[in-house]
Amino acid sequence: MLRVDTLADLARYRRSLPHNTTLGLVPTMGALHEGHLALIRQARTENDIVAASVFVNPTQFTNPDDLTQYPRTLEADARLLADAGCNLLFSPSSDDIYPEPPVLRLSFGTLETTMEGASRPGHFNGVGIVVAKLFHLFAPDRAYFGQKDLQQVAVIRRLILDLSFSVELIRCDTVRADDGLALSSRNQRLTPDERAEAPALFAALTQARQLLTDGQSATQAEQAAADFLASRPRFRLDYVAVVHVDTLQPVSERQAPGQTAICIAAQLGVVRLIDNVVF
Ligand code: AMP
Repeated sequence: MLRVDTLADLARYRRSLPHNTTLGLVPTMGALHEGHLALIRQARTENDIVAASVFVNPTQFTNPDDLTQYPRTLEADARLLADAGCNLLFSPSSDDIYPEPPVLRLSFGTLETTMEGASRPGHFNGVGIVVAKLFHLFAPDRAYFGQKDLQQVAVIRRLILDLSFSVELIRCDTVRADDGLALSSRNQRLTPDERAEAPALFAALTQARQLLTDGQSATQAEQAAADFLASRPRFRLDYVAVVHVDTLQPVSERQAPGQTAICIAAQLGVVRLIDNVVF
């Protein structure tokens, strides 16, 4: 696996690839786990070259503590990526990506005022800017994103549409621990007691999905999930919402399969957990 950490070296590498080489890009913030590696493996089966970026993007953090506490494990990440068949690791410095603080602002309309956007104003502007930079730098044929961050996928979908990036967006299923907890780099910061409690988030989602399957309304399903978590005092529920996967607007009527998601976010100790299931 080749490693580059400057924009200039990345540009040189990109230009050196033959024109018909297909490139799959997996953007990450590092502290890699099986969820990230599943993206790499899927990209491996669909492209000639698989590239991963590891960059803890400051512009998408709205809480300074979260940024400083975010786990950074670059050498371990590099080993995992190489073992999973990644060909190129790009791990730039913040100064290289942002020689000056960006003045450009990306707004995603109602996609960014709901759910994660409501409690993290500016978060999707930061995501959009860094992903647009990565798309310019890599000119990937395909880009791989996890369905775990469903709102991020919806935002990237619009970024691609609105700016005419010629990249195919590939949504990858959420990888979970055996007890149902969605894998996340932030899970490392849960205490053992909190980690034991954490699967309740997925249990709340599964229960809500069952209610929808049984014909109950979105409101009833949301209320049931909220009640389920309310009985667990360690959790502080932020939101639970039944939404359309692309527009993120509330869904009241039955949609085509795969178009509705139940999304949830809750604070557990110092960690903010998010998860969703598609219905
Ligand atoms: P992050 O490093 O958290 O920014 O995540 C990088 C990419 O990995 C994003 O597209 C995430 O959605 C994806 N990802 C993170 N956790 C999981 C998971 N448990 N299953 C599938 N994809 C994931």
